[in-house]
Amino acid sequence: VIEIRDLHKRYGPLEVLKGVDLVAPRGHVVSLIGSSGSGKSTLLRCCNLLEDSQQGEIRFEGEAVRWRGEGLARHPADRDQVTRIRTNLSMVFQQFNLWAHMTILQNVMEAPITVLKRDPKEVEARAREYLAKVGIGDKADAWPAQLSGGQQQRAAIARALCMEPRALLFDEPTSALDPELEQEVVKVIKALADEGRTMLLVTHDMKLAADCSDHVVFLHQGRIEEEGPPAALFGNPQSERLRGFLSATA
Ligand code: ATP
Ligand code: MG
Repeated sequence: VIEIRDLHKRYGPLEVLKGVDLVAPRGHVVSLIGSSGSGKSTLLRCCNLLEDSQQGEIRFEGEAVRWRGEGLARHPADRDQVTRIRTNLSMVFQQFNLWAHMTILQNVMEAPITVLKRDPKEVEARAREYLAKVGIGDKADAWPAQLSGGQQQRAAIARALCMEPRALLFDEPTSALDPELEQEVVKVIKALADEGRTMLLVTHDMKLAADCSDHVVFLHQGRIEEEGPPAALFGNPQSERLRGFLSATA
């Protein structure tokens, strides 16, 4: 369970999140939608400690997700927390960020071996399973540059899964892809949703949000403007701003 209470985030004078409350129960998919700059990525980044926040709290399975002190380097206890949180809340980015000098298999195996110190044999077996699961089992020994964008993003999803996270954070996983490649990634995300994985999904793809979410949150300028089950939110939007947003993205 991810619980966010009254979260405020500022970059200098700019307040990007102005008191956000959100709960993603275990096994639920919560999608975040909203205009560019509304704070969607910032919210995800706060959840896995890529950003600090100034007020409010985030809890992941009861544990406070927070930066203590000033610098990670000076706080070894924090480093353990960062590792634990990032392992359990694995993030998939818009740009897949695969290591160009490693094969696909090596990319997927890297973090479980170096960060979690898992047994390489066991990790390799699991990595191959996840690559097969996302439909690119035959690409294990290829280099990232030899894959299409959709295949690279699926490799990035396999890499996130190989950490065996408790929840997945997706930040616009399909928006760097051509429409026809987008669908193969959408399929993988829907399959993960059907498996009952806990996910926070930032997306521009309203169809994806409608199809796989239990709950949809519309952010506007750092505040939740409207939220609800997808059928209500998309079928019967209440706020003028959400109606405007939906007609602009349709
Ligand atoms: P998009 O749909 O374009 O990805 P978003 O909803 O993800 O937008 P964020 O990336 O969360 O938006 O950004 C929210 C606001 O915070 C924007 O006004 C952005 O300019 C600002 N911002 C983001 N990162 C930083 C940073 N590191 N320093 C200063 N301002 C930032
Ligand atoms: Mg963003």
